[in-house]
Amino acid sequence: MSKPSNTPGTVFLVGAGPGDPDLMTVRAARLLSAASLVVHDGLVDPSVLDMAPPSARFVSVAKARSRHTMRQEAINALLVREALAGRDVVRLKGGDPFVFGRGGEEAEACRAAGVPVEVVPGISAAMGAAAAAQIPLTHRDAASVVSFVAGQCKGLSDQNWAGLAGVGRTLVIYMGVATSEAIAEKLIGDGLSPAMPIAVIENAARPQMRVLRGQLAGLGALVAADKVKSPALIVIGEVAARNDTAELERIAETAL
Ligand code: SAH
Repeated sequence: MSKPSNTPGTVFLVGAGPGDPDLMTVRAARLLSAASLVVHDGLVDPSVLDMAPPSARFVSVAKARSRHTMRQEAINALLVREALAGRDVVRLKGGDPFVFGRGGEEAEACRAAGVPVEVVPGISAAMGAAAAAQIPLTHRDAASVVSFVAGQCKGLSDQNWAGLAGVGRTLVIYMGVATSEAIAEKLIGDGLSPAMPIAVIENAARPQMRVLRGQLAGLGALVAADKVKSPALIVIGEVAARNDTAELERIAETAL
């Protein structure tokens, strides 16, 4: 996909979904299977990368937590440099590029450099995890509001989450494993019931998925006892107690 030298390539910001390649959009699968340059982050499942032609060049830009800011500038520069050299770039991101994916920053950098950008949405982890665990994010009997927050962000204690969680509301926390104890304390401090149901969904939509359930007061202990690792999502709200997968599996087995 090389262009005449004065025509920039396009940067495609592509959502790869939560892991299972079957959960990519048709547009994403088409672009990936025709890609010659794939720039991907650490969350993208190897089974997704396998969809690109073996001849494609792969560049991993997996981020180390502590070097986040510097690395992002380097990623922006890489995308711009490749596109200005006339190459189309498939920039593959876990989930959706515009949900905690810094896709907005990459799109801005490309536009500022005169590089065309197309954004291909993906199934964000919240949707993928909710579907896989059969936890409805909204439910007429349990929740009519759903919010997504980042648990690992600058000044967690300064974030105002008041009103995002509670009766009739579902709170989904991305990147919250390392700070789960502080998150529970913060929400209980905001007035949330310590008995509010929670679910932790690790590796959603991947073969090694785990769904753990409990109550808000026990969130930190649950994460520690079960050695939950990133990537994992925390769901807080009445919906988290619905559709226990173990129970669903038991029903499916007896139905066979
Ligand atoms: N753009 C991504 C989110 C990137 S932030 C999206 O839309 O999904 C990274 C966080 O996403 C992880 O720390 C984790 O909280 C969540 N996440 C991503 N993939 C996940 C998966 N397969 N299972 C559980 N959580 C996941």
